[in-house]
Amino acid sequence: MEVALAILGIIVGGLLNRLAEGFMAGRFYRKIRCPYCDTPYRRWLALEKALRGQIRCNSCGAPYLVRPLFVELATGLIFALLWRHYGLSLYLTFALLYACALIVIIVTDLEKRLVPDKVIYPSIALALVGEMVPSCRNWVSHLIGGGIALGLFVLFYLAGGLIVRLRGKSPAEIVAFGLGDVKLATFIGLVLGFPQGLRALVIGVLINGTVALSIALKDLLRGQYNPFKAFPYGPALILSAFVFWLS
Ligand SMILES: [Zn+2]
Repeated sequence: MEVALAILGIIVGGLLNRLAEGFMAGRFYRKIRCPYCDTPYRRWLALEKALRGQIRCNSCGAPYLVRPLFVELATGLIFALLWRHYGLSLYLTFALLYACALIVIIVTDLEKRLVPDKVIYPSIALALVGEMVPSCRNWVSHLIGGGIALGLFVLFYLAGGLIVRLRGKSPAEIVAFGLGDVKLATFIGLVLGFPQGLRALVIGVLINGTVALSIALKDLLRGQYNPFKAFPYGPALILSAFVFWLS
């Protein structure tokens, strides 16, 4: 059954790639195309081509199928792990949908620094319903987890805005820490509950701190230090959430 879930995950991964492409283009759905020469990809899965030892564009040779392939394989793995965790249950359906949302957000945040409202708001609504499902879920812990995450990340958001203002810049000019990150953290807190969600978020914040420090150090060495340089904050939060959720 785990293999069946892995295969389902890989196929759904094909859909998640197209949804992510769509959200990044301001739509819902978009075909996969080579970003360099615009040649459309005709098969559903990048894996189909990869299994024949090819990952490059037929026309221009760009290796643009690496990310779609990675998304398909990661979705397969996560679906199999969720099955191992929850077995056949109503909650499994919710868990699979949460995972899909998080995978789409990793892609859109990494590529466009975007946490789409069309994904995150329905996900939060779904989590509010899903955590009430009477299949041994401790819904109070999940509500507390979501509430604490929301409170904590709103504070981060306000502090980030304050620092930008104190440095004499306008927050509209530079987003130190976006509202998308606040919504994402709330969703992770709801899904993982308390204290698990808080642990995952703290580790995610520490990873982001390490990334920010290494970027700053690298830029300092090159003499191009910019304290407001932005980088996607969501992927580390999500990766940490998956590790805590599935381990
Ligand atoms: Zn191409």
